[in-house]
Amino acid sequence: MASKCGVGWKPIVVGLLTALDAEIAKQPASERASFRVVTIKQKLGALRVYMASWTEVMQAAIDAAEAASLRTCEVCSRPGKRRVCQGLWMTRCRTHRRRKRVP
Ligand SMILES: [Zn+2]
Repeated sequence: MASKCGVGWKPIVVGLLTALDAEIAKQPASERASFRVVTIKQKLGALRVYMASWTEVMQAAIDAAEAASLRTCEVCSRPGKRRVCQGLWMTRCRTHRRRKRVP
């Protein structure tokens, strides 16, 4: 699984993966392998999560995580806002709004 987003979103990603694992565990054993996360990344300032296959419950969990990312600084996990910085969309708190690169 490719994961490319800032450490500030790690709690969101960990929470999401925990929720997805719990939901995957409820699926028939023969189908579980198809419900895998393909990509986790930042796009236009928001967390984006792609799965090979998913249920409505998984989609709702992903939607909630993506919404949470738009309120969370990608650098430090503090409350943030999505804004355009140096021509790029990013979600940052006031302290990190000028920092382009994510550690
Ligand atoms: Zn920050």
